[in-house]
Amino acid sequence: MNTAQEERRSEKLRSLAERAGRELEDASALDILGWAADTFGRGFCVTSSMEDAVVAHLASRVLKGVDVVFLDTGYHFPETIGTRDAVEAVMDVNVITLTPRRSVAEQDAEYGPKLHDRDPDLCCRLRKVLPLEEGLSNYRAWATGLRRDESPTRANTPVVGWDERRQKVKIAPIARWSQDDVDAYVAEHGVLTNPLLMDGYTSIGCAPCTRRVLAGEDMRAGRWAGRAKTECGLHE
Ligand code: SF4
Repeated sequence: MNTAQEERRSEKLRSLAERAGRELEDASALDILGWAADTFGRGFCVTSSMEDAVVAHLASRVLKGVDVVFLDTGYHFPETIGTRDAVEAVMDVNVITLTPRRSVAEQDAEYGPKLHDRDPDLCCRLRKVLPLEEGLSNYRAWATGLRRDESPTRANTPVVGWDERRQKVKIAPIARWSQDDVDAYVAEHGVLTNPLLMDGYTSIGCAPCTRRVLAGEDMRAGRWAGRAKTECGLHE
């Protein structure tokens, strides 16, 4: 495809995303995912941090064997890897694990140890942003578990929007959900969740950059605590 064709394709996808965002604002999560499955078929995937399998479960109801993309940064808690393995074993989804180009040891050798403490933006870029960009290259649309109530930076998340950086349609089927909605769905459908959610963690990322939250803190306060950083760069 030449550049002009790519630009036309992107423009078409962008207006499709913007129109769907308006039309599906009040739709249920299942209807939003149903639209994605009908529109993109196998050109659509779900990304999961394996905090829980709610969006993967919803997507598997509208597209059996849907691709569920997981970024294995090399820094995850064992419980997160265990959740990924359990999802793969019991759910009707196709788990795809993406890994960074460098192992943690290779990154340490090149950039020095504990890059996450010295330059977390670079560490996230190497271990999350770049691998996801490569991993999503074959899809036209991707779904995430972003919710508006998680943090002020996510308050305006559209249910369907345009991912300018990756030139893809980005779907947030549970953007309007609250934590109570998530808990109710998990209980009703017996959805797999990360055991750390029962151990004081409300948002789970890489082990060196995640701590338990304290009473009164917001859900993502345990991520990069004590730093100005609030997002890994995947959703900016
Ligand atoms: Fe590195 Fe921390 Fe980002 Fe994980 S969350 S990629 S350890 S900076």
